[in-house]
Amino acid sequence: MSLVEEPVNLLGFSGPELAALVAQWGGKPFRARQLQRWMHQRGVDVFDDMTDLARDFRQRLGENCQVAGPRPLSEHRSADGTRKWLFDVGRDNAVETVFIPEDDRGTLCISSQAGCTVACPFCSTGYQGFNRNLTTAEIIGQLWHARRVLQADASSARLGGEAAEPSRVISNVVMMGMGEPLLNYDQVLGALRLMLDDNAYGLSRRRVTVSTSGVVPMMDRLARDCPVALAVSLHAPNDALRDKLVPLNRKHPLSELLDACNRYLEHAPRDFITFEYIMLDGVNDSDENAKELIAISRRVRCKFNLIPFNPFPQSGLKRSSAARVRLFAQQLMDAGVVTTVRKTRGDDIAAACGQLAGEVQDRTRINERLPDRGTIILKQERV
Ligand code: SAH
Ligand code: SF4
Repeated sequence: MSLVEEPVNLLGFSGPELAALVAQWGGKPFRARQLQRWMHQRGVDVFDDMTDLARDFRQRLGENCQVAGPRPLSEHRSADGTRKWLFDVGRDNAVETVFIPEDDRGTLCISSQAGCTVACPFCSTGYQGFNRNLTTAEIIGQLWHARRVLQADASSARLGGEAAEPSRVISNVVMMGMGEPLLNYDQVLGALRLMLDDNAYGLSRRRVTVSTSGVVPMMDRLARDCPVALAVSLHAPNDALRDKLVPLNRKHPLSELLDACNRYLEHAPRDFITFEYIMLDGVNDSDENAKELIAISRRVRCKFNLIPFNPFPQSGLKRSSAARVRLFAQQLMDAGVVTTVRKTRGDDIAAACGQLAGEVQDRTRINERLPDRGTIILKQERV
């Protein structure tokens, strides 16, 4: 490799790509694995600190390459232990990453795009429009950074005599931050493979979840390329309503989506699809809607995750009451459908689902084309 002006960022490199780079310098494949472990497992970004690499190899790396995670602009901690980072992704754009500690696991929620083109009217990311896809390095860099911070915290807690808490470990990753992961397929795939790679993060497929609004052709590709757990943002039980709540439905309607779910299940690490269903007062939370969902549950092996809507000013939508959510869940459960209601976490730091705003300079002018999406839906559903 020749000297280049901008050092190559190795953070997004796959194992085989690193091996090819090392081979150009006459190095053996195990050198690539060592380098990968230094970067991802130990979170080291200075080549000279990678002490078991040969000095001339370190020098070559230092002259040509870098390990550059996304630049954190801020970090917030919620009273319930949730943490949120805002990362600079250039050109006045920022994305958010959230860590949610629980007793038996720690889940990191990662972003895949600056903004989103799907433009769901209940989602503040969709409301902002779209700027660009994140690179593999920017996507995996969110995990890299969060893990470094949490590891540093855990070791200072150990030094202080505290037992390391399991909640400081990232055991699960969900692609449920900003953006539609399957509309940034290649870059997301690179990041998913690093999450699973034993020389990088070594997570099990069952603990890595891609959440999609239903990009059918890419669901089929993911099943072949890297089958991880799948969550599908259903949000509506029929095409008329889903066309409005998840505009991608106009391109890939429900029957097509449900068929794709069944094809995915042939490869999936879990034997069910998680359907996410946001509870919107007077829009999709009627008894009739619950009955339609029960009919859907007969077509695909699934679990339902009911998500209380997190309001944001421009949406014009309201959260279903707690009593309504309970009744709706009960209706599904009485029909034998496994149903959970998502606990809202981190809402004191605007880290809850759909509150991830980041900063997106809209290049698509979605907001001008669709000036009052939220109110249109409310009016039509309420008459
Ligand atoms: N684009 C993908 C992944 C990111 S959105 C998708 O749509 O699945 C992740 C989840 O957050 C989705 O289920 C989405 O419906 C939910 N969400 C978006 N806005 C929300 C809001 N205002 N309140 C609660 N959940 C929201
Ligand atoms: Fe995009 Fe998902 Fe938000 Fe819809 S819910 S606008 S697909 S990020």
